[in-house]
Amino acid sequence: MQSILRGIPASPGIVVGPVHLLRWEVPEVRQRLIDDSEIDAEIQRLHGTFEHARERLRLLRTRAEAQVGPKEAAIFDVQISILDDSQLTDGVEALIRQNLGAEKAFDLILLEWRQNFARSMAPMLRERVGDLTDVHIRVLSLLLDLPDHDPVAVPRGTNAILVTHDLTPSLTLQLDRECIAAIATDAGTATAHVAILARSLGLPAVVGLRNALSYLKGGERAILDGGEGTLLIAPSDSELDDASRALADEAGRADERRELALSEAVTPDGVRLTIRGNVDIPEEPELAATSGADGVGLMRTEFLVVGRTEMPDEDEQYRAYRRVVEAFGARPVIIRTFDIGGDKLPVGGFPHEANPFLGWRAIRMCLDQSDMFKKQLRALMRAAAHGDLRIMLPLVVTVDEVRETRQLMEECVAELSERHVPFRADVPLGVMVETPAAAVACDTLVRDVDFFSIGSNDLVQYTLAVDRGNTDLAPRFTPLHPAVLRLIAGVQAVGATHGIDVSVCGEMASQPLSVFALMGLGIRQLSVAPRAVADVKRVIRGVRMAAAIDAAQAALASGTAREVETLLRRRLRTELERV
Ligand code: PEP
Ligand code: MG
Repeated sequence: MQSILRGIPASPGIVVGPVHLLRWEVPEVRQRLIDDSEIDAEIQRLHGTFEHARERLRLLRTRAEAQVGPKEAAIFDVQISILDDSQLTDGVEALIRQNLGAEKAFDLILLEWRQNFARSMAPMLRERVGDLTDVHIRVLSLLLDLPDHDPVAVPRGTNAILVTHDLTPSLTLQLDRECIAAIATDAGTATAHVAILARSLGLPAVVGLRNALSYLKGGERAILDGGEGTLLIAPSDSELDDASRALADEAGRADERRELALSEAVTPDGVRLTIRGNVDIPEEPELAATSGADGVGLMRTEFLVVGRTEMPDEDEQYRAYRRVVEAFGARPVIIRTFDIGGDKLPVGGFPHEANPFLGWRAIRMCLDQSDMFKKQLRALMRAAAHGDLRIMLPLVVTVDEVRETRQLMEECVAELSERHVPFRADVPLGVMVETPAAAVACDTLVRDVDFFSIGSNDLVQYTLAVDRGNTDLAPRFTPLHPAVLRLIAGVQAVGATHGIDVSVCGEMASQPLSVFALMGLGIRQLSVAPRAVADVKRVIRGVRMAAAIDAAQAALASGTAREVETLLRRRLRTELERV
């Protein structure tokens, strides 16, 4: 039946293809009692299923090894070793011998194991809960003969639209991009990590669809429009024609967009801006390097850690950072230290928190684990010998955090000198301004930092008290709220007074309407998704700074985000139509 599912635009682009459902959740299992005569066969069935699951995992490991490297692939070895654990098999077999069907027996044992691991005092065991859950889902799906939802099962060249509840970063990175062409999720928002990653991978995406998974069966033909935020199921012939025309248009405009992306970011009245790119996947700096971006304004290093069983060591990090720096030649590359925790990666089995966004994440966690942090700082200082690398700290709320980091950097200088390896001692150190504390009191930071970069995703979240990843709150996540604009204006003013660069690197910087506002608020540096460079430059090249300043003043004096949006939209249209 034809229908249109509406979600949140997350990554632009149109894809026509079959729906591939990925239900990565523990299925419900009904109790089933078996006869004494069936016990042996049921145990055999269990062993056969384990072997099938192992085969799958070996396949995934081989692919992960080829795509992302041996360390990432190790996660599958861990899952294979869970299946090889005789204690687990004995536990399930014992329940089967008590006349329980294999699926219920396995379900009960896995629930017990997951609970025990989660409560364990040993981080090594807490770390394994995610792997246990994956094994739980995989084996139960096989035992219950559920349709195979594993992303590995999609044939090459399918051009499939992956529909799932939510994608973990590790699942996103495991996707076979030769068969998955687009992503649609029931959960998520435009600033959730699935959206950020989809943009980095250049995969069109719609998030926040809410109930696509329960509505779809899989295999339906569909059109996903990542710019509109829609998933059209069973399109008519004329809709398919429209989509082909839009795709052809897109391809036809590619040259024009490319030219725009490579053009200068100068307003008609001669004000120059600096547009840098965000890099999220260390293996792929080339996309950003050739996107028309003048360097990297934000590299999210936590994606180095995605799907890993342990933190990358200093040498591996050094190679990754150096690769990005070298891809950009003499252009600046701002690398952010690990922002782990919150909705980011739970590497290392960190304790579960009631309020992870207000919890032990980012700079807090790094300073508390100075050995881990210093490994990253040393890798960064070594990579800085190869180009214009700058270090940026996430989630700063107090100058103490900057001073403690500088202290650790001094220790790193001593350690690196002793090792006689090339490095740069005076790497510029900046901070993300992404908490109201840092924004309101940014003057307390000026003596200790070299630059500010406003992380609007978190700044909006904390200022408006709206969870950035909650689909139900997405309409309330309004970056153009006057409170946010006033904070940005304040940071910009302090930066100007003290001669400190202020850039914006959150999602706002990639959105044409907010670019218009940011220009008017005095922001002269933006860091954007590489694919957004052309759209951002289109605004800059079409808008007189005088008009942007006027509009920003009116926005600052407005009462609500909606008022701001309406006035900016009207004025931006008028300005762009002027020529
Ligand atoms: C931000 O918060 O705006 C930001 C750029 O960082 P992240 O999205 O990784 O939290
Ligand atoms: Mg942030």
